[in-house]
Amino acid sequence: MCVRELVINWHVTEVCNYGCRYCYAKWEDGDSTQELIHDGSAIKALVEEVGRFFKPGNSDNPLWPSMHWELLRLNLAGGEPLLYAEKSLGVILHARRLGLETSIISNGSRLTPALMQALAPHLAILGLSLDSSQEKTNLGIGRVDRQLRTLSMPELVDMIALGRQINPRLRLKINTVVNTLNWQEDMGKLIGRLAPEKWKILRMLPKITDDLALSDAQFDTFVQRHADLDHGVRVEDNADMTESYLMIDPYGRFFQNIPGEKGYRYSDSILDVGAARAFSQVNVSTRKFCSRYAGELGELQA
Ligand code: SF4
Repeated sequence: MCVRELVINWHVTEVCNYGCRYCYAKWEDGDSTQELIHDGSAIKALVEEVGRFFKPGNSDNPLWPSMHWELLRLNLAGGEPLLYAEKSLGVILHARRLGLETSIISNGSRLTPALMQALAPHLAILGLSLDSSQEKTNLGIGRVDRQLRTLSMPELVDMIALGRQINPRLRLKINTVVNTLNWQEDMGKLIGRLAPEKWKILRMLPKITDDLALSDAQFDTFVQRHADLDHGVRVEDNADMTESYLMIDPYGRFFQNIPGEKGYRYSDSILDVGAARAFSQVNVSTRKFCSRYAGELGELQA
């Protein structure tokens, strides 16, 4: 067994209220007319098919012989999945009914006490994408909505405390994408206040654009500055991020990064051809998968 838990990342929507300049959440829509999240029966069918195919013990799954996971977790990502909070909650509840663990990764902007009350009891992990504690830097990156609102850090701290109060087993994970605007920042104080169980430091991946791409030395400087923090720091460079995630796009297709190229490789629609056939159309490196997953909570950034 190389992983205890297998994580399927479903990017339920491309839509986001922020406009990060490096954002990877851009998919070709093929012939699809709409994202599956708007179709209640398609949502259920996808969760059921994915749940069946990746169920622990399914020897028809090509990953099973080498990975032997015990738990399956569906992680909702985006875009911003909480722009469709009711629908995302519906996905989570359906996945829970089928016995899957669930998590979500959000930019945090749409979290309210009422939504936290509804979500937290069903989540194993709440993921937050946070690149800076500084308003100016967030504005520069594009982590700002049309009304020019950025995330309020004091409100976020309170919101996380509420989530932990509602569900003491809830684990917090923070993803930070290091880029040319935040590599000089010391995020130690904010990370200390939020006290995540895992802080994933990702290098800006020039997948869609080279904008904000940084040098090896800049990335290393950011990593070294935070090396002593005791919050499950995990560093992920670009090479680690290729062919090592299980990802589904908003149209219900598996997709993968293509080594050394921009854009993604897509399978056919899972609902059209079934998960087994669709999965055979993308490459997943079991070796990279196992090394990245060893001892971590593995899912993507919003
Ligand atoms: S918050 Fe996430 S999905 Fe939204 S623009 Fe930024 S990177 Fe993209």
